[in-house]
Amino acid sequence: MNDPTSLDNPQNLGRVALVTGSTSGIGAAIARRLAADGFAVVLHSRSSAETGRAMAAALPGAAYVQADLADDSERARLIEAAVAHRGRLDVLVNNAGISWPIPHADLAAATPEIWERMTNVNVIAPWRLITAAEPALRAAAASAGRPAAIVNISSHAGVRPKGASIPYAAGKAALNHMTKLLAATLAPAIRVNAVAPGLVDTPMTATWTAMQAMWRERAPMRRPARPEDIADLAALLVASDYVTGEIVLADGGFNLT
Ligand code: NAD
Repeated sequence: MNDPTSLDNPQNLGRVALVTGSTSGIGAAIARRLAADGFAVVLHSRSSAETGRAMAAALPGAAYVQADLADDSERARLIEAAVAHRGRLDVLVNNAGISWPIPHADLAAATPEIWERMTNVNVIAPWRLITAAEPALRAAAASAGRPAAIVNISSHAGVRPKGASIPYAAGKAALNHMTKLLAATLAPAIRVNAVAPGLVDTPMTATWTAMQAMWRERAPMRRPARPEDIADLAALLVASDYVTGEIVLADGGFNLT
């Protein structure tokens, strides 16, 4: 009999995945997908605690933790709480991020305050979460006899000179390079990969109508991604025991145009 809460199930059952920023958009789709794949998921968000608790109640073995990832002590507390949920952590998905459009040519609009805010949440927070999670991920890999996994949700803006703003795009490029550097550093116990989505229909992009139209007209796939499209890729990277250091572009072919 499969007990979904058993820690010694040979599949994902009993393995634990933390998905940051998982009460909406891409993070929520990844959390649901990993729960369907058998993980006990730790949901997280900065503010929507009620939604987080309701989602956790609906997913088997899930828990919810609220934490502001702009604050360094909250990052450490989130990892502690995630590990405390089931006494282990097998997967960390760094999905939480912030972005809003700033015209690239308006250099003065990208103020030091904006650079610091975006870099803090989009680059330094994933670094600090990985740092705090490393011992638990190593322990989970040793106990499972297979590598633990980190998946960073980056952006096509970090791959090509595009994106909602230059501070955002530069931060995602940093996250991509960090992904490769950490993949080389943390192997073989921990694999580190990234998904780089193009435009995705989420609350973040709900008002970006010009970009939505551009995607429908120019992207070979003729639509923005659905959060589930990105969750499929994140789940693939989690499922592999071999792939590491990859930045998987998921932009419906937009980069080909
Ligand atoms: P979203 O706004 O629905 O989700 C973002 C999540 O990040 C939210 O749950 C929010 O709580 C969390 N978050 C933001 N700041 C935080 C903070 N200080 N502390 C804790 N949590 C915080 O947006 P989304 O579109 O689902 O974005 C998810 C990720 O995908 C982001 O990293 C984003 O940069 C990336 N991305 C999105 C798109 C897109 O078109 N939507 C494209 C490429 C990459």
